[in-house]
Amino acid sequence: MGTLTGSIELKTGALAMDFETLPDNPYFLLTPGPLSTTKTVKAAMLRDWCTWDDDYNSIVQDIRDRLVRLATCEQGYTSVLMQGSGTFSVEATIGTAVPRGGKLLVIANGAYGQRIAQIARYLEIELVLHDSGEVDGPDAARIEEALDSDSAITTVAVVHCETTTGMLNPIHEIGRIVKGHDRTYIVDAMSSFGGYVMDMADIGADFLISSANKCIQGVPGFGFVVAGREVLESCKGNARSLSLDLFDQWEKMEQGHGKWRYTSPTHVVRAFSQALQELDDEGGIAVRAGRYAENHSVLVDGMSRLGFRTLIDDNMQSHIITSFHNPAHTGYEFKKFYNLLKEKGFVIYPGKVSVADCFRVGNIGHVFPADIHALIEAVRASMYWEADAPKSVDSE
Ligand SMILES: *Cc1c(COP(=O)(O)O)cnc(C)c1O
Repeated sequence: MGTLTGSIELKTGALAMDFETLPDNPYFLLTPGPLSTTKTVKAAMLRDWCTWDDDYNSIVQDIRDRLVRLATCEQGYTSVLMQGSGTFSVEATIGTAVPRGGKLLVIANGAYGQRIAQIARYLEIELVLHDSGEVDGPDAARIEEALDSDSAITTVAVVHCETTTGMLNPIHEIGRIVKGHDRTYIVDAMSSFGGYVMDMADIGADFLISSANKCIQGVPGFGFVVAGREVLESCKGNARSLSLDLFDQWEKMEQGHGKWRYTSPTHVVRAFSQALQELDDEGGIAVRAGRYAENHSVLVDGMSRLGFRTLIDDNMQSHIITSFHNPAHTGYEFKKFYNLLKEKGFVIYPGKVSVADCFRVGNIGHVFPADIHALIEAVRASMYWEADAPKSVDSE
């Protein structure tokens, strides 16, 4: 899959090499990120950069432009990159977008929604939390009611794909309600941006947050926020933190034509630029989303033939990550199952829900349907707790 022989332009001359000679990763990362990346993305890190030189800053500006174009076809949007893992970008956005004295409504159904609420508590931002548990979607009528009755709520935040379970939240429907009430709308699209076709203008999102090591298939080290330019401009002076001041970070990046306020993760940024190019080469987000959807359907078909059941109802299940109930068999132990799969080249993910005993499998990253077919065979061969597991599951 994906021949990698070629060259990467590193400005002072192409890095020409036979990428096939680079060692393979010992296993696929079937997790919600960091995930499996290409050898060419990893190879793009083989150069050092000066953070104030044009060579580097032009890469940053190109990334910022591309992110805006991936997020929307409409005009009037801008983007800002932020050091740290994805949570740093969520915290920067919450701490900067909510005005002083403002009030945040968080719609949560899992750990990442809860984390947004936790950020608000740390920053002493007034909070209303609508928690629908871990396996149920949000209640639109209740959101409508909250916004009707509480004019102090300035800002609403929701997670698109709740990576805790793989549940997909109805961000368009919520967006219509939020925009109908003229409030600011923040969407944590961390695990879905680049993996779903969406336009933030359609959604009504003022801030869309993601990070380098999810569906763009870069390596970890920074996050990014695409925002309505006017909304972001109105956030000056709101920030509750110096290093996580999203407005100031953006303003300095604008004024400095791609300069970060503080040391930027140069190698990660260069790898991300390569990852964006590879997203283009693959055919863009629609094609990538199609590949993830196929990965997901191969996964669920194969696993259900082996007797595994999914946690989330099909109509809310994303093609990003899938939760499966652990087998009820008394001889089953996740860690042993995990290790057997790892030996065969596949790393899966433990469950994170409290209401059910689960494990998770990610469908994203540089992973193809053929790899998922191979995973299903590996699962079949790792079902040590079943004396007579089905012989072949993938022959249809
Ligand atoms: C990955 C992820 C984050 C950020 O997690 P980090 O560990 O800080 O990168 C936030 N929200 C969602 C929905 C995620 O999937």
